[in-house]
Amino acid sequence: MEQHELWRAVLGDIELQISKPNFLTWLKHSQLVEKRDRDGVALVGLPNNFAKEWVRNRYHKIILGSLRTFDASVKNVEYAVIHNAPTPKKDLPQNRKVSNEEEFRLPLDLKVDPKTNLNPKYTFSSFIVGSSNDLAYAAVQAVIKDVGKKYNPLFVYGGVGLGKTHLLQAAGNEITSSYRGGASVLYVTSEKFLNDVVAAIRNKRMEDIKKKYRDVDVLIIDDIQFIGGKTTTEQEFFHTFNALYENNKQIILSSDRAPSAIPTLEERLRSRFEGGMIVDIAYPDYEMRLAILKTKVLNQNITIDEKTIEYIASKVQRNIRELEGVLNKVVFYTQYKNTAIETKKLDEIINEVTQTVSKNITAQEAIKAVADFFEIPVADLTNRSRKKEIVEPRQIAMYILRDVLKLSYPHIGEKLGKRDHTTVIHACEKISRDITQNNHLSQKIMMIKERVFKT
Ligand code: ADP
Ligand code: MG
Repeated sequence: MEQHELWRAVLGDIELQISKPNFLTWLKHSQLVEKRDRDGVALVGLPNNFAKEWVRNRYHKIILGSLRTFDASVKNVEYAVIHNAPTPKKDLPQNRKVSNEEEFRLPLDLKVDPKTNLNPKYTFSSFIVGSSNDLAYAAVQAVIKDVGKKYNPLFVYGGVGLGKTHLLQAAGNEITSSYRGGASVLYVTSEKFLNDVVAAIRNKRMEDIKKKYRDVDVLIIDDIQFIGGKTTTEQEFFHTFNALYENNKQIILSSDRAPSAIPTLEERLRSRFEGGMIVDIAYPDYEMRLAILKTKVLNQNITIDEKTIEYIASKVQRNIRELEGVLNKVVFYTQYKNTAIETKKLDEIINEVTQTVSKNITAQEAIKAVADFFEIPVADLTNRSRKKEIVEPRQIAMYILRDVLKLSYPHIGEKLGKRDHTTVIHACEKISRDITQNNHLSQKIMMIKERVFKT
């Protein structure tokens, strides 16, 4: 078998063994550089150092196993960075191959296209796929392949700074450039949509927005949760939605929570959203946070030591924007001081960006954040109510008051329905234990903490 045939067979085999997004992100652009008869080593080329490390750490076994299935003379696999590896951008015209270095040097403050509102800086090549977002990524890819037909609407939800805007905009950019006939894409935030509706009503020009929003192939609305409760806007959106949907036009929406959890969202809209595909983006795990930092470091040619990157990845957990914010500050600091950063300063920067210690959150604010999250009255948590559906929210509130505010058990019991301190201890222990086993619960708590810190 020829070398490239061998590699094609291996990739075909691996594609069946790992998730599609991971395959596309990490292996699609790999190549077999050489197979040495002398020692049976197969040398696999990846487009950059990070991909090299990632593939080595995660897929070595699979690669070796698969290679040996097709060619028993292979004894081991080694990895190398091959700069002329095919670029991951599928939409570049064939005659214009861009090397990775060149791609990395593209300015990041590219202009937003006034026709689509898309910012070209959001691409899939800079989007890391991991366990927290691979479903969302896969759903978006499916939509891109089959615009208007496969999942309609596609509804992506997840906490602040977890990549919703990046993913939606990347989808818009990809669709714009990959549909040769020219698909018209329009990206707006729900705020922008609302402003347009209000202005149209004021100026008596409803026809304008009808034309603007119904005359597209793909409508992307970011942060749709803000539409809840704005009756006229909801109505207009409902009609827009139907008009697009009936014509097989694609609708992609994002929100900070699931449709069922958006308060005051009209029932008919909720059911429309639920009629499509709903996927969530969860909090990134350590490995993924590390991957995001390392990619940034590589892409921007930053020098920063490995330990510092690992430290940041371990500390900043809730928000990718904050992860980037910390990195930027640290880089600035080390360049300015021209020295490695010491842990104390690093902690300071992390606290500054994530605001975990600087704020004095009151118990009242924290309790309200929990109540708001579950959409129940604050009083249900603070009075002696024994309603069954209050049990978990109250336990979570107890846990948060302990974990975030460090209040004493009796004090917490006093605040939450005059419970005995042993009840509080029991609740805190239960939640601490459950978090480690129940991912859904741990995501909920992260989201609530997010709210607590934002109050
Ligand atoms: P959201 O819209 O969910 O609040 P954003 O899309 O604005 O979050 O993401 C916040 C920042 O984190 C952006 O700079 C974005 O590029 C970056 N980011 C988010 N997810 C990823 C990812 N999976 N890989 C790389 N960067 C990401
Ligand atoms: Mg966003």
